[in-house]
Amino acid sequence: MTATRTAEELQALAERASGELAEATTDEAIRWAVEQFGDDLIVASNMQDAVLVDIVTKVKSDIDVLFLETGYHFAETLGVRDAVATIYPDVRIVNAQAEQSVAEQDAEYGPKLHDRDPNQCCHLRKVVPLQNTLAGYSCWITGVRRVDAPTRANTPIVTWDDRNGLVKVNPIAAWTDDEFNGYIDEHGILQNPLVHEGYLSIGCAPCTAKVAPGADPRSGRWAGKSKTECGLHA
Ligand code: SF4
Repeated sequence: MTATRTAEELQALAERASGELAEATTDEAIRWAVEQFGDDLIVASNMQDAVLVDIVTKVKSDIDVLFLETGYHFAETLGVRDAVATIYPDVRIVNAQAEQSVAEQDAEYGPKLHDRDPNQCCHLRKVVPLQNTLAGYSCWITGVRRVDAPTRANTPIVTWDDRNGLVKVNPIAAWTDDEFNGYIDEHGILQNPLVHEGYLSIGCAPCTAKVAPGADPRSGRWAGKSKTECGLHA
């Protein structure tokens, strides 16, 4: 079970597991993470759906779930977050917030920073709060999948997250869209209602658009803003 380990020990553990668990199933990867870290892990969710929360809680029900509360979310997304807390009562939602409110950010940087400099806006409202929250854990579990984007095509099951200084586990990295949607249908998993309105990749409201039928789901993120990643999974 978990014990306090140095960053060097965690990195060595992650690098060893990266090879040993390269072909691990989702269940094997999650069981390894829970066995290694116990309560010292957190599961990230953007509240587009509860797939990751569902599969991890089947192994450990009382997990911490990280939600980046940027202040710019759709009401539907906040509704999913609240519903997750009800459906999975042992889960603890950790709302990671920026140092400044949206109003304070507007006062310092001017309004609609997301339109003028989305990289800075994401840095202030996502990257820094993520780093601050992850500093309290030894492992985070994400729902990143290789099919999400070309930049994610080589996503490993287990890796060392050098920027944030902890182990990163991506248990559904190998899932196809059919497997993902099949899991939702088969298990009746909670999903953001905006998905059914054509929002196939949901982030902050000012940076999320409907996706044209047949188009890449991530084409709805930062449309027209020369940006495709928020920088969380660099
Ligand atoms: Fe700002 Fe848009 Fe990034 Fe949200 S997704 S933090 S609104 S730039």
